[in-house]
Amino acid sequence: MTAIDIFMPTYAAPPVTFVRGRGTELWDSEGKRYLDFLCGLAVTSLGHAHPAVADALDHQARTLLHVSNLFANDVAPRVAAQIDDLLGGGGQVFFGNSGAEANECAIKLARKWGGRGKFGVISAYGSFHGRTLATLHATGQPSKHEPFQPLPEGFRHVAWNDLEALEAAITPEVAAVLVEPVQGEGGVFPATAEFVQGARRLCDERGLLLIVDEIQTGLGRTGRWFGYEHFGVQPDVVTLAKALGNGVPIGACWARRDVAAAFEPGDHGSTFGGTAIATAAAGAVLTEMVRVDAPALARAAGERLTQALSATSGVKEVRGLGLLLAAELDGHDAKAVNTALLERGLVANAVTPTAIRFAPPLTVSDGEIDEAMGIFAEVLRA
Ligand code: PLP
Repeated sequence: MTAIDIFMPTYAAPPVTFVRGRGTELWDSEGKRYLDFLCGLAVTSLGHAHPAVADALDHQARTLLHVSNLFANDVAPRVAAQIDDLLGGGGQVFFGNSGAEANECAIKLARKWGGRGKFGVISAYGSFHGRTLATLHATGQPSKHEPFQPLPEGFRHVAWNDLEALEAAITPEVAAVLVEPVQGEGGVFPATAEFVQGARRLCDERGLLLIVDEIQTGLGRTGRWFGYEHFGVQPDVVTLAKALGNGVPIGACWARRDVAAAFEPGDHGSTFGGTAIATAAAGAVLTEMVRVDAPALARAAGERLTQALSATSGVKEVRGLGLLLAAELDGHDAKAVNTALLERGLVANAVTPTAIRFAPPLTVSDGEIDEAMGIFAEVLRA
């Protein structure tokens, strides 16, 4: 049975079956080696088969996998405290299993915090916040909404980085503004400082929550621990997933303690949220990221990759932050380029019809960057 026969047709036919990985490298079922400059869409930030994560999973699997949220385990509280520390302290954490669930938690929290009649969430066109019905509506891509109408009410969108439009969209029923520091799925378009700082000011003036979706940008990827740090603002709510488990499914919603206090027992939950095995992986990831100073690695490697991309003939523009980058191509079809990259052993992604996204592990070596950029230049030349 091939993948295409047995799965629901929600994804295009996969071109390759990967069977093994180590660091930045992947091997397919034919034994061919690849450089992974996509990381499962910004997930395996510490690289594949990281020994610290593998050891933590092995130990936890042999100790205790799961006990439900009727009881405590001794792993999740420690990991929640690690997350709270990285975010500056003074908050509380809810664990789920994915990015969409982290955002669902943030949306439900904003509604509960806002109270009856104050439930709206404003996000941006071009944003991506998940595939559940509510996070799909928060996602500012109307073409993705159409087949699933009617979607839950309470969501509206404004043009990306348009502060005036944001201000105009704030009505008394709005409870929160939801932003990505860099629109990842939308094409790797960073927010402007003016927009994020203006959103913070408007939220303060109008009594709204600023929710920052750090699912793709968080945990060092942009060269800071969190993308919002580039703009000098402090959010009220932060959502995380992807890199948090380095491939083990986990999501987290963090909120300022006084905001989190809007939830009461029974308001929200998840069977697997905060389970010992997933939080053990996240704990190992965070400890390792602190040990290696993951944001500093992303800054240094991001600079080298940006320079190499900018110097590549056929690249019109390089955008993004740290190791979340896109190369806007000069007249090439990104899909065709991406297929040629894969054939030559480089995993990347055509994030728009004209741009290739690069999100290698934060641990990528200079040699691996040079090798990947050699392949990229060769493909654009061809
Ligand atoms: N938010 C952002 C910014 C994302 O990039 C993604 C996934 O790409 C999500 C939310 C949804 O995460 P998940 O696919 O884990 O539900």
